[in-house]
Amino acid sequence: MSMRQLSLIFQTFNVLDNHLKVVFFSYKVIFKTNKFDCQKRLFCVFPPPRNMSTIRLCDYDCVGFDLDNTLLQYNITNLITLEYQLLVDFLVDMKKYSPKYLKEPFTEKVMDFMQKGLILDFDRGNILKLDASGRIWRASHGTKLLTLEELESTYPGLRWDVTDKFFQDMFSTWNGELSLKIRALLDYFDMPVSLIFAKIVDTLDEEQKPSVYNIWPDIMEGLTHIFSREQFQNNGDFFSALKSNPEKYLHLCSSDTISWIRELKKKRKNFLITGSNADFIDFTAGYAFGKDWRSLFDIVVCYAKKPGFFVPTGRDFVPTGRDFLPTGRDFLRLEGYEEKCTIEAKELKEGGIYSQGNWKELTDFFTRITGKNNPKCLYLGDNLIQDVYVPNAFRDCDIIVVVDEQLAEKMVHHELSHSDEIIINSKFWGSYFSLEEPEGYRDSYWNHIIRNHSKVCIPKVEVIATIPLDQPIECFDKETKNANGYFPAKPLSLHV
Ligand SMILES: [Mg+2]
Repeated sequence: MSMRQLSLIFQTFNVLDNHLKVVFFSYKVIFKTNKFDCQKRLFCVFPPPRNMSTIRLCDYDCVGFDLDNTLLQYNITNLITLEYQLLVDFLVDMKKYSPKYLKEPFTEKVMDFMQKGLILDFDRGNILKLDASGRIWRASHGTKLLTLEELESTYPGLRWDVTDKFFQDMFSTWNGELSLKIRALLDYFDMPVSLIFAKIVDTLDEEQKPSVYNIWPDIMEGLTHIFSREQFQNNGDFFSALKSNPEKYLHLCSSDTISWIRELKKKRKNFLITGSNADFIDFTAGYAFGKDWRSLFDIVVCYAKKPGFFVPTGRDFVPTGRDFLPTGRDFLRLEGYEEKCTIEAKELKEGGIYSQGNWKELTDFFTRITGKNNPKCLYLGDNLIQDVYVPNAFRDCDIIVVVDEQLAEKMVHHELSHSDEIIINSKFWGSYFSLEEPEGYRDSYWNHIIRNHSKVCIPKVEVIATIPLDQPIECFDKETKNANGYFPAKPLSLHV
């Protein structure tokens, strides 16, 4: 049943929240997909007052999307459970770690330890959560929460020079020496690593507490073993699980969202940039959007190696004082799913699919197909480093960030719930957005990034797929530090 066919159960009420007057029209919606099990509310937002910062989708020449966990929604509970089991099997079978804690049942209580955005301090065996000023707000050693005294003695002033560098520029710890000290777990593909890392630390402490925990190289090897792109054709365990049971792991995209993408493509140029390989996205996008999924986009870039894709290189010097990657990656032509020769920006074609590449040449392509010198670009993604911080800070690209936690933690004046909220939310670490303290709440580091590097924060793409392209949407404004960019509503934890 499509949304337009649904009978309207009409109830209107006004809510004044955050200077925004919203009229809610409540629709009783029954979806064929299991994304929402509950009654769904759609929003009609009156245009905000003139003095508010707003964006309109029609203001952009090119609108781009990330795929995994942005346009393509996973059953996050089943996805994380699978990843957890595969990584544990690898570490126990291949690396001979003790199964004592790793093989414990994956219960709700156990999974409460996980949260998107946690940071690993490899050497100390600690897991960290930062506040908006880059200080370590909460930390555990293994699965055991550190007391404030332990925290202060481990990280004097609640700071660590490596997290300070991460705070100043998140890309600085992505590669090189610092990447051997710290890792932020930023999406649902690596979220289970925090729990696995912590359980191994617990085990090692019981055996013979090491001075330095050398676990990360084995975990990294496990992640590579599970997710490397060759494993799709080789029927590796992760990919064969998805291939043989796609309905268990992938959600179908709603016909309304597909129609909205098609409408967007008629009026603006649109594009897809994904880190996944061509064969995998043909499988996942073909399942979620239909076999003609490529017709939804003016250009598709796969295996893009974000965030490096967005980072300026020697080929397009931009004087911002940063250290850039010495060379950019070329676009590669695809023959079937196979990467072939390199090609130049002038050879990129509308309707084409390419591998790797770089932002500079992609924008040269946009200039050619829009006829505009500096086409204005908007990008929608979920990964706060790859899709939000780097494209915004290094390329001044406007961002709409997709954050499932906004729905999982519930929103103000809103009844929607997330079908994966048990695995997404964590009582151990608290809200994704805010940090609870005796004197009140303050922003988490990730909320600081959301407010400073995105225009709008949404829980799912489909919430904006109901909005006309010329409708203004309130957005964050770095100057005024407003909190108006959460659409359709603020997370409950920020409403204090
Ligand atoms: Mg993604």
